Amino acid sequence: QSPAEYIKQHIRTVPDWPSPGIQFRDITPLLSNPRVFRVLIDQFVHRYFDLRPSAIAGLDARGFIIGSVLAYELNVGFVPIRKKGKLPFTTVEETYELEYGSATVEMHTDAVKPGDRVLLIDDLIATGGTMMAGMRLLERLGAQVIEGAAIVDLPELGGSQRLRAGGLRVHTLVS
Ligand code: 5GP
Repeated sequence: QSPAEYIKQHIRTVPDWPSPGIQFRDITPLLSNPRVFRVLIDQFVHRYFDLRPSAIAGLDARGFIIGSVLAYELNVGFVPIRKKGKLPFTTVEETYELEYGSATVEMHTDAVKPGDRVLLIDDLIATGGTMMAGMRLLERLGAQVIEGAAIVDLPELGGSQRLRAGGLRVHTLVS
């Protein structure tokens, strides 16, 4: 059994959450099982040990969990990209469209600097809007986003395709 299959088996699909018709891919079983959690993190460690990001930026909130463990393993710093209103210092923000309404993410202005090679990470890519907003924030501060990574891609929503069309390299473990 491949690591990808092993990981996929531990993703739980919850029907009609958070609203009717949505099939939510719940990754918490990947975190609560120490063997799967290690396999999951090791997949990213092996890839990024060679690609050598100088920092890892994680998207609120599940991107914090995998991003911070990966940053610790690679011995690089971790930067949180948060939903609006959570960060205390000076911030830059990006607003993006959701199916209904919009969302805003923020990052501290001193979190990265020009020339940094940043890995952007989240748990899942759906429409790609969240990761695209994160990429814009990092690029506005002069950082180079070397790749956007996630555990899960939902290809039928076209997010990873959209991100690639926007110039981002995308790496996901399961579809
Ligand atoms: P997007 O911006 O690509 O449409 O949505 C991705 C963001 O929403 C990610 O931050 C992700 O955590 C969250 N998200 C959307 N749908 C799901 C889902 O089915 N499962 C999980 N775990 N997260 C989701």
